[in-house]
Amino acid sequence: MNEIDFKNKLKGLLFIPAAMQIAKEINVEVYIVGGFVRDMVLGRKKNEIDFLVIGNGLEFASKYSIALGISKIDIFKNFGTAHFRYNDFNLEIVGARKESYSRNSRKPDVTVGSFEEDIERRDFTINTLAVSLNEETFGCLIDTYSGLQDIHDRIIRTPIDPMLTFDDDPLRIMRAYRFASQLDFKIHESINDAANILRERLKIVSRERVIDEFLKILSSPAPSVGIKLLFYSGVLEVIFPEIANLSGVDQRQDYHHKDVFLHTCQVVDNIAGISNNVWLRFAALVHDIAKPQTKKFIEGTGWTFHGHEELGARMMKNIFRKLKLPLTKLEYVEKLIRLHLRPIALAKEEVTDSAIRRLIVSAGEDLEDLITLCRADITSKNMEKVSKYLDNYERVMKKVWEVEEKDKLRVFQSPVRGEEIMKLCNLKPSKKVGEIKSAIEDAILDGKIGNNYEEAYQYLISIKDSFLD
Ligand code: ATP
Ligand code: MG
Repeated sequence: MNEIDFKNKLKGLLFIPAAMQIAKEINVEVYIVGGFVRDMVLGRKKNEIDFLVIGNGLEFASKYSIALGISKIDIFKNFGTAHFRYNDFNLEIVGARKESYSRNSRKPDVTVGSFEEDIERRDFTINTLAVSLNEETFGCLIDTYSGLQDIHDRIIRTPIDPMLTFDDDPLRIMRAYRFASQLDFKIHESINDAANILRERLKIVSRERVIDEFLKILSSPAPSVGIKLLFYSGVLEVIFPEIANLSGVDQRQDYHHKDVFLHTCQVVDNIAGISNNVWLRFAALVHDIAKPQTKKFIEGTGWTFHGHEELGARMMKNIFRKLKLPLTKLEYVEKLIRLHLRPIALAKEEVTDSAIRRLIVSAGEDLEDLITLCRADITSKNMEKVSKYLDNYERVMKKVWEVEEKDKLRVFQSPVRGEEIMKLCNLKPSKKVGEIKSAIEDAILDGKIGNNYEEAYQYLISIKDSFLD
């Protein structure tokens, strides 16, 4: 293992000398701990730094912020923690503590502790590394639990028995799989065993916390790493059972369908390879979510999943509520699920302009994301098939561009507006006005008339009597 020159690395950080100065002045020990040290070893950049103070952490934090000329500091007296920003950095300061937990809450009783007690309560060995900011030992690494070796071996382990670690704070189960997914590290078997036994304890953790870790897994370079670990340890069944239920293959006569869970994992990874949009990744995760409920075996045809896109879209509202996902993203995810088969249908036969127009109008500004999802959905191992399918989407997109060019439909609305319909037909604002307007829009979408004012107006005159009878 290469020796890392922390002294040199820390010298580049402008806010370090002041920390050392204040520590000396008020006679406390200060260390940089946790994620920042881990990421320095891994050569990853990080702008969040955790300081561990042996002694009065809040006094240190307040004097330290003043020394750096910072006036805005958040102090959490109950937890003995403080936080402020310095340039692009988030500085977090905590006084050393020991914790004891009660069975039905992940909120610990916190009391003042020693350096050793504080390091022992940390979640994983790779997060227990500390670098000294004290005069005599500046830049020295304190590695109580062989965290450096574990980073080198790329493995997640707990400093103490994981049964205790997870029992105290079940969120750590999620954090284990999140770090494994973000860093592409292995998980020590004892962690999987403990996670499996204690997974139901995740129910005492707030949904927001759990989903926050889950979204970090989805944001990682290959989300399938974390999702599969969650699945095989039985944790997915507790936090997101609808995804765990996708697993399994049915075989009848000569027909079997592919394992929807493994297919889903691959689609999510495909998306992750080309987009950082976590909601597009989420849509990929749930696009086939209703396959188990819609599965039917049809003699001579095999397995079908008729209507899974519509049912899947309808399942989302409950899932968003249950998981405490942001409702602002609901419509986007619903839309992508609902439409994910539409482009394939359009690729199959000779496509009419009006079918393409309907796709453009339904997908709106998310059309590109929809096609990205469709392309990622191709997971066949048969290269000939893959290239044929990709060609199909290419054709659909070419059609889309042609039709869009023709009539700039993305912000489509009847060229004859409501007020004019009311005037011509002598109507008050009513349902009827909307019906007439929709009839005009339909005529344009079906290609009966062009998308312009003159033709729409003539059409209105020709249909109005049939509506007014
Ligand atoms: P990142 O910021 O990338 O999420 P991090 O390791 O900095 O990673 P934080 O959540 O910021 O993680 O926590 C900082 C440090 O505090 C961790 O490195 C770990 O030592 C400790 N820690 C955080 N949460 C827990 C927890 N639930 N249980 C035990 N230790 C924790
Ligand atoms: Mg952090």
